[in-house]
Amino acid sequence: MKTLMNGVVDELEAVKAVYADLASRPIERNCKGVAQCCAFRANGRTPFLTKGEALVAAQAWRAAGRKEVVIPADGSCPFLGRNGRCQIYEGRPFGCRTHFCEAAGGPYARGEVRDLIQRLEAIDHRLGGSGGVNLPSAVANAMDELPAKGKRGR
Ligand code: SF4
Repeated sequence: MKTLMNGVVDELEAVKAVYADLASRPIERNCKGVAQCCAFRANGRTPFLTKGEALVAAQAWRAAGRKEVVIPADGSCPFLGRNGRCQIYEGRPFGCRTHFCEAAGGPYARGEVRDLIQRLEAIDHRLGGSGGVNLPSAVANAMDELPAKGKRGR
């Protein structure tokens, strides 16, 4: 298991700063918590994650005490709890925050968040990522890159 080097820690903070900037924007959307967007197979859409997003999601999953990503047989998101709620809400990826489901108000116009997407892409590049990867695979890969619990990066 690798340790997270300081540079990587900084990049993950940069991802979280993107999320914070998105939350501060006066764009009218309101997640209803219906988890429509989390049913990937049912709605025919799976979020694609940059490497930084995947590492942040993996951190949240690890913090929840999980060691691996198990893909549900129904094709829904591996982080959707039996209670219908996201189990990594604070670390959920960008796509989950831009509410592509209609119940939340429909997807953000790309122009509203283009600069944020570009920042995530730049982070992906600096982390040696290869662009968007589907959510289950991206986070499963990221879990392998996180340090074992209790280990700290240099
Ligand atoms: S990460 Fe959370 S919000 Fe995003 S699809 Fe999965 S369960 Fe839903």
